Amino acid sequence: MDERTYTADAEPGDTVTVAGWVHEVRDLGGIAFLILRDTTGKIQIKFEKDEMDDALVETGLDVRRESVISVTGDVEEEPRAPTGVEVTPGSVDVISEADPELPLDPSGKVDAELSTRLDNRTLDLRKAEVKAIFEIRAEVQRAVREQFRELGCTEINTPKIVATGTEGGTELFPITYFGQEAFMNQSPQLFKQLMIGSGLERVFEIGPIFRAEEHNTPRHLNEATSIDFESAFYDHTEAMDACESVVQAAYEGVEANCREQLEALDIADEFETPDGDFPRLTYEEAIERINATDELDEPLVWGDDLPTEGEHALGRDVGEHYFVTDWPSEIKPFYIMDQDDEVSTGFDMMHPEMELVSGGQREHRFEHLVEGFEQQGLDPEAFDYYTEMFKYGMPPHAGWGLGGERLIMTMLGLGNVREAVIFPRDRQRLSP
Ligand code: ATP
Ligand code: MG
Repeated sequence: MDERTYTADAEPGDTVTVAGWVHEVRDLGGIAFLILRDTTGKIQIKFEKDEMDDALVETGLDVRRESVISVTGDVEEEPRAPTGVEVTPGSVDVISEADPELPLDPSGKVDAELSTRLDNRTLDLRKAEVKAIFEIRAEVQRAVREQFRELGCTEINTPKIVATGTEGGTELFPITYFGQEAFMNQSPQLFKQLMIGSGLERVFEIGPIFRAEEHNTPRHLNEATSIDFESAFYDHTEAMDACESVVQAAYEGVEANCREQLEALDIADEFETPDGDFPRLTYEEAIERINATDELDEPLVWGDDLPTEGEHALGRDVGEHYFVTDWPSEIKPFYIMDQDDEVSTGFDMMHPEMELVSGGQREHRFEHLVEGFEQQGLDPEAFDYYTEMFKYGMPPHAGWGLGGERLIMTMLGLGNVREAVIFPRDRQRLSP
């Protein structure tokens, strides 16, 4: 639109055309106010009934909430107006009239269930505190990309339609690919590792992963965004350093550039960037500390995965982001390098409330890799495209995958991971 001014940029003395949604109309008798909302905020439009053209007043006051209008008029200072200015309209144009029956109230005065909100996500995103989440999400991706650049990474994009799964058969989504069975990719793991043997050496990807999760939980999606990193000639400790720097950069970006959004979410005062040194606990220390909290019915023993209640107990105990390192080999995937017969180089990075990252040094020795496949009950031949490349010069390497939505969820204290996805996919939800 030519000559449109954002509401936030309207200055006293200007004649402007502002356009957006009718947030509310308040008729006080002789005077009435229409609040117009656009992506930058809201502005007050003043109608003085005795002094203005009747048709103009009628258009302004009869227009339904959430209709799209444009208003041309003079901006004046008005300390009593929400933004300190108001517009006296010369003309009002109704561009797209809204139905009076709104499925969701974007003013937020009427609460709605999450499912109603997700069904009507377009309207839901008209709320400042919802829009803020996705503006922050965009900032996180920007800051993370910049940090990967600092780390010397090349951004890659790998296939999402694949012939084999990597993270366990039960969580696979099968699809039909020209009459042949194929799957939605659960992780870029194998592809990013293949780039280690290429000339790129250090790569990252921000892209979708697909998992047919058994249960609906507040922290699982069936389509999630994975932030993946992999570097040649890195061991697991260097991969952890990179992980800390990326998470810290995400927080720093939000702290520096999303003040307004944090205020809309009412968390600006308590928002804090973690310092980049997350405690590194061994798995053994982790289970000892969990057992010492006495919060589990049965104490954990070597080889147990950490149950959710255990993670929570430990999270409360540690009170900040932390790593769990030195996991038993038997509960880490086949592509993770072992330190010895029992202990792997695998690590998880945890927020006090949940796992955010899994990573480790990778097995780059061809024979060991093929053995690992067999031990995990996978047919190495189905992965020839991957294993073969380990015969032709594959350096040692390490990396990790970070759940993008879980990063946003924990950063903003959201109660459900679905809040961090515009159009989430879960067991019940396939549209919009
Ligand atoms: P969990 O045990 O919490 O289900 P996972 O160990 O199966 O996670 P990984 O395969 O280690 O997950 O994936 C790396 C990261 O990707 C996880 O730490 C998490 O942040 C994110 N992630 C994995 N699966 C999902 C999912 N279904 N929904 C949202 N994020 C996910
Ligand atoms: Mg994991």
